[in-house]
Amino acid sequence: MAARMKQARRVAKLGVSDFETGAATEQLQNEMLRRLERVLFDAGRLAGLESCNQGYCGRKKCAEVCQFGTRRRRLKEIPAALHLLRKSAGPLYEVRIGRGGWAQPAGKLNRVSVAAAKKLNRWALDQLYIPDLIAVGTFKVSVAPKHEGSGWKCEIHQIISGAKKKDLEKVFSSSRHASGNFLKVKEVTNLGQTISDVLKRNVQGWQHLYQTEITPDRPKKDHRAEYYAWLLGLNADERMVRYGCDGYFNKLCQRRRDHASARRRENTSMIVAKRPPNWGAFRKASGFGGVIRGRV
Ligand SMILES: [Zn+2]
Repeated sequence: MAARMKQARRVAKLGVSDFETGAATEQLQNEMLRRLERVLFDAGRLAGLESCNQGYCGRKKCAEVCQFGTRRRRLKEIPAALHLLRKSAGPLYEVRIGRGGWAQPAGKLNRVSVAAAKKLNRWALDQLYIPDLIAVGTFKVSVAPKHEGSGWKCEIHQIISGAKKKDLEKVFSSSRHASGNFLKVKEVTNLGQTISDVLKRNVQGWQHLYQTEITPDRPKKDHRAEYYAWLLGLNADERMVRYGCDGYFNKLCQRRRDHASARRRENTSMIVAKRPPNWGAFRKASGFGGVIRGRV
């Protein structure tokens, strides 16, 4: 416990002003369990989670849905990512990229493909051909504003080091203007806080890209239940986005990176062979049609 308090203090020293307290995490875990108990047919899926606490997970393998586990992971990730990005040459940009094709109506969050979004992000970053490029972030879902139907908006929120703003805007902008696509590239001013922000994975209302004075609606009980049920099917780490670094935020050297992309190419051809029926629509909406076709 003392070690974790020390870790939390260390995170605060890194410039993170709103790191979740242990008490807030406990509240969130209880709320999550209450929501899920009401909607799940099989309460057995929650086994072990009620005995989790700040220092211990009741499951053999910690799950993404466990709020204590997420806090523990963030405590490790934030200093490690900061160390990595501080040493990088920069420039550092905070990037939010969303595609209309990733969005889902309320009640259909389980249709979201985190892997497809991450793949698209990687393809775009590959187009920059920058050997030292680093990206760290997460795939996020948030509740769309009422006038947009209160469904789920999906995005990748990340910090990218090593590319110019105009080049990032070029590779991430879509060639056709599909509705629901969005992109914001902003210079990083407080690195510690921005790392904490991009690695946050709690459910929130969608924050407008530029009108930051608009407070997003708080997700309703139904949204929260659906969100937690979706998390229940995810592995810890599944939403994490990394480029140019390994699972511990160590920079990948070029040789290891080439090896990793060769492996990814193999995986990609397997995925393409098993292309899901909605890939066409996704590709169209994504606006990276040319890139994807070129790679296949
Ligand atoms: Zn746990």
